[in-house]
Amino acid sequence: MTPPPLVDIGLNLAHDSFDHDRDHVVAAARAAGVHCMVITGSTLESSRAAVDLARSAPDTFRATAGIHPHHAQGFRDADLSVLRSLMLEPEVGAAGECGLDYFRNFSPHEEQERVFRLQLELAAETGRPVFLHQRDGHDAFMAILREYRPRLAAGVAHCFTGDERELRDYLDLDLSIGITGWICDERRGAHLRELVRRIPIERLMIETDAPYLMPRDLRPKPGGRRNEPKYLPHILRTVAACRGEPPEAVALATTRNASAFFGFENSLLID
Ligand SMILES: [Zn+2]
Repeated sequence: MTPPPLVDIGLNLAHDSFDHDRDHVVAAARAAGVHCMVITGSTLESSRAAVDLARSAPDTFRATAGIHPHHAQGFRDADLSVLRSLMLEPEVGAAGECGLDYFRNFSPHEEQERVFRLQLELAAETGRPVFLHQRDGHDAFMAILREYRPRLAAGVAHCFTGDERELRDYLDLDLSIGITGWICDERRGAHLRELVRRIPIERLMIETDAPYLMPRDLRPKPGGRRNEPKYLPHILRTVAACRGEPPEAVALATTRNASAFFGFENSLLID
């Protein structure tokens, strides 16, 4: 039996570290069973690039269109119409990534909150689900998200690394949860290895966040530091082992979830 195809729901394929070998990276991922990939947009420019890449192979890719909280500061009201039209492109599967990052604080909190709200408003308007980022800003994030949630189609808390309370809050809002190679880190990811069991399988998705977050326990250790979507099966196996479930079952469920969320139904024929 061939293993179910996988979907990487978070891949920064427009990143310049892929400029010299992007096609090769995608081919290697597909050869490893990662048939579909969602290309993260985090600025207007990278969202545009993500849409262009997605358009080049619409069976393989979806894009997200949004402004990462790191880049909130430069976002002007005049940019809003550009972002709205990007979100409406047929290749776009979700609005984002958007949210709050109070860990690095590259933008002031008020600016992050302003731009987060603007994007939730656009997501509600356009009917796009949201691709969410949150670090060290859980309470403020929840307060804003709770306001908008009734008007949002769906949402995924991407790269979840939080604690039990955060997980419970997200699940209460009917969010899906994206798990990255963070879970492969014996030290930093220890709590996640327990918590991942508490995610209902119909809420679970997997992602590499490449080129970031290389799984730390890959053997043999890859030469460079650049993470790639071809390592998604490794994350899948770790998630499955932590949950005590067969990898095939987790593959099938996460692919089904991601397919419905991002609109891959026509390229992934799974039953
Ligand atoms: Zn993120």
